[in-house]
Amino acid sequence: MDLYEMPDFDGHEQVVFGYDAATGLRAVIAIHSTALGPAAGGCRMWPYASAEEALTDALRLSRGMSYKNAMAELPLGGGKAVILGDSLGEKTPQLFRAFGRLVDSLGGRYITAEDVGTNTTDMEQVAGLTRYVSGLSRKAGKVGGDPGPQTALGVYLGIKAAVRFQLGRDLEGLTVAVQGLGGVGRPLCRLLAGDGARLKVADARAAAAETLRDELAAEVVAADAIVSEAADVFAPCALGAVLNSRSIPALRARVVAGAANNQLAREQDGQALMKAGILYAPDYVINAGGIINVSHEYRGGASEERVRADIGKIPGRLTEIFERARREERPTSAVADQLARERLKRAA
Ligand code: NAD
Repeated sequence: MDLYEMPDFDGHEQVVFGYDAATGLRAVIAIHSTALGPAAGGCRMWPYASAEEALTDALRLSRGMSYKNAMAELPLGGGKAVILGDSLGEKTPQLFRAFGRLVDSLGGRYITAEDVGTNTTDMEQVAGLTRYVSGLSRKAGKVGGDPGPQTALGVYLGIKAAVRFQLGRDLEGLTVAVQGLGGVGRPLCRLLAGDGARLKVADARAAAAETLRDELAAEVVAADAIVSEAADVFAPCALGAVLNSRSIPALRARVVAGAANNQLAREQDGQALMKAGILYAPDYVINAGGIINVSHEYRGGASEERVRADIGKIPGRLTEIFERARREERPTSAVADQLARERLKRAA
């Protein structure tokens, strides 16, 4: 494998492979760009089948963070860490302390936080070894803590903007199919239900879906069927690459807007969505609520109102992208990528 020739390498500034014999830590930290500030992005723990798969994921997620932070107008570059391992059985405090040492060795070029498979408790361990960490347990009177609810808030506002643009109405009586009911999907469902949306929900863990059925009268759908369910909006809130050459022809929703990172399997899938008349809210624009929260927590001094006001800018950014895409007859994903790249270029 030639790292520099990998399609996902895309000019990364730095890629670090960490190994710690005592704890078994195997981790990759990818720093895509520090043009706008220190590279910030969460740490994912996942049972990757190989180091190559982990590297590819780190590179794709890290570039996504560059674009996300640039579009959210944060003074942060883009980076991401992945730990190879199963978060359900292989987590130890020592593992995260070893990871903290690895983060600290980069001297502040990379700031970590939680992501899929990691949480505030893990980040508290990391914080014992480095100050370049955010997303810690919430301190009284301060912003911070689990960024999931703030991501959900941004996605909810973004869905409303997309529905307004595409369908010319509000959420009352519309059906939203939500895939993935974790830290973001759950609070998102509550916000949508509060606006009178009907919910169809699916999760790989049956119990997660059943809880929402009981709480919000949501209709539970099989995890492998949710993509093609009859719905007005499809909200992917599980893992990436859910929009691909197989799933797009099966989609019945006219709006796709959700929290998952890297929803498009390939760049050309954005084109396929446009051709199918489906409005796609670019993932890294709509799901920036969490990193906005993390950024304020890290920098300190902001109030809850300020965080919410910054998250409140997400729908406006999306609408600008939607309008430009329509004017130029281009996919929304291509317009967002271009805007993000221009911002990074200006900063560099
Ligand atoms: P999470 O791990 O808490 O929840 C993910 C849920 O998806 C789990 O309940 C899991 O069982 C379910 N799932 C996995 N595969 C599935 C499948 N094939 N079908 C249905 N359900 C499936 O993660 P989260 O924090 O809720 O994040 C969800 C997505 O949003 C991820 O892609 C994450 O990268 C992205 N994201 C999260 C944040 C955040 O603040 N947490 C911010 C930005 C983006």
